[in-house]
Amino acid sequence: MKKILVSACLYGGEIVRYDGGDTACTHPIFLKWKEEGRLIKVCPEVFGGLPTPRPDSQRVGDKVMTGAGKDVTAEYTKGANEAARLAEENAVVFAVMKAHSPSCGSQMIYDGTFTDTLKPGQGMAVEKLRNAGVKIFNEDQLEEALAYFESL
Ligand code: SF4
Repeated sequence: MKKILVSACLYGGEIVRYDGGDTACTHPIFLKWKEEGRLIKVCPEVFGGLPTPRPDSQRVGDKVMTGAGKDVTAEYTKGANEAARLAEENAVVFAVMKAHSPSCGSQMIYDGTFTDTLKPGQGMAVEKLRNAGVKIFNEDQLEEALAYFESL
């Protein structure tokens, strides 16, 4: 069976987001894949040992910092490595990762100023996954992901 890596907060059912909120994806394409048992859920930030809820953090250059100025790059790197390891172990055909996150974002991320400003960029885990050759979609690109899935 073709497996797909997904952000755990999109998969739903457990509280993993930094703010303790719920962003479970209810799109029919996503739900069908979930029902078929082909989704491998990962939360890089939880894998990195960070608590939930946790301080809002953003990429600042090559680092990840909390709004209070704490360097959490090591935790984000550890979580990114574990997500990439699971992608390889499960031979996933692509990933669907939550938009805008400093770990899972794939097109736009917050710009490091903590002013709710987005800029083009990718999260730490997505960077690692892409370097390992994993194609990335976000939750707003499920039609595109389905077309890719069906082309495989
Ligand atoms: S690290 Fe990724 S999976 Fe975990 S809560 Fe943030 S966006 Fe969701």
